Amino acid sequence: MNDLVPVRNAIEFFSEAELRCKGSGIIQLDPRFASALVELRKAWGKSLSVNSVCRSPEHNAAIKGNPNSLHMTVNPKWPTLGTMAADINWRGWSLDEQLKFARFAWAKGWSVGLHNGFCHIDRRADLKLKELPQACFLYGEWDNQFTIEQIYP
Ligand SMILES: [Zn+2]
Repeated sequence: MNDLVPVRNAIEFFSEAELRCKGSGIIQLDPRFASALVELRKAWGKSLSVNSVCRSPEHNAAIKGNPNSLHMTVNPKWPTLGTMAADINWRGWSLDEQLKFARFAWAKGWSVGLHNGFCHIDRRADLKLKELPQACFLYGEWDNQFTIEQIYP
């Protein structure tokens, strides 16, 4: 039942509406992800709004998400205990702020995906699998405002 503590803490900073699957309404967060999300939010020190967190496998398929997406509440491939990814809405942020956030998340062990409208962050590295290391990647909808190389230390 202690697994519910990080989930409740996450709900302190993010509304249930933001966290829940937009298809099924389910909220099921991997506790490692939930804790890290709260830590990230506290350390960042400013509010963060999220576009997409939990996705049921059905909803993920409906929106054509990656078939092994870490947004899924139940993962067909990876040994997650719930959702391990969030899309931080950064539309309207300055470029400096976006780069600062991507670097900040990376330094805290998050994998980072750059999209014009959001920064995808996930805790894949917490699974400690050789085949799924911390990663930084670009979406098709990214206009190279800055590069992956600028995110690494
Ligand atoms: Zn995402």
